[in-house]
Amino acid sequence: MDGEHAASVAGCASEPGGRVSGTLRLAVLDARIAATVGQIKRSDPGWPCCAGCDDCCRSLAELPRMGASEWARLRGAIEALDAEARRRVEAGVAALRESRRGEAGPRTCPLLDGDAGLCRVYAARPLACRSYGFAATRSGDLWCGKVEAHVEARGPEGRRALMQVNHQAVEAQVEASEEVRDLLAWWAELPAPAAG
Ligand code: SF4
Ligand code: SF4
Repeated sequence: MDGEHAASVAGCASEPGGRVSGTLRLAVLDARIAATVGQIKRSDPGWPCCAGCDDCCRSLAELPRMGASEWARLRGAIEALDAEARRRVEAGVAALRESRRGEAGPRTCPLLDGDAGLCRVYAARPLACRSYGFAATRSGDLWCGKVEAHVEARGPEGRRALMQVNHQAVEAQVEASEEVRDLLAWWAELPAPAAG
């Protein structure tokens, strides 16, 4: 990882002597992740992550975790879904609750449109989803086998030149200022959709 760039991705959205709203922090983190993702894709047009590639959304090792600001944005997108989409999402949440009582993952995200292979709430997806496929933590890269194979094919020099989102630092910045819960824990705050 490029240390200087990782630091900039994790950089603080604070203002001297002032508090930063969760919304502003989220916008800054969104923009920084998008800049790194854009840079990776421009420098390597064959990068495997693309619309319709949904294996990662179908094989979650753990439920997406997010801060209160991320949840507020996501909740708005969920509440704006049409009735049929919301019904399918609720069915996915029920299945997820059931699986949680049983064995550990991998699990399918209930927000995935499995027919289209697309996220139903793409514009409001959590930070972890924005960076997955392009990120690293101290304990390892956050991507699937397809990306791993692609990076390996770049060889040692190509790998060293690769920029990545420092996801651990992003998480730490959110956790320092907001409550963080997993998707099902936040879901409990969502009123049931109107019947009909
Ligand atoms: S991380 Fe893997 S499965 Fe997810 S979009 Fe990228 S290539 Fe596809
Ligand atoms: S919120 Fe969207 S991008 Fe994130 S895991 Fe679920 S379907 Fe995939």
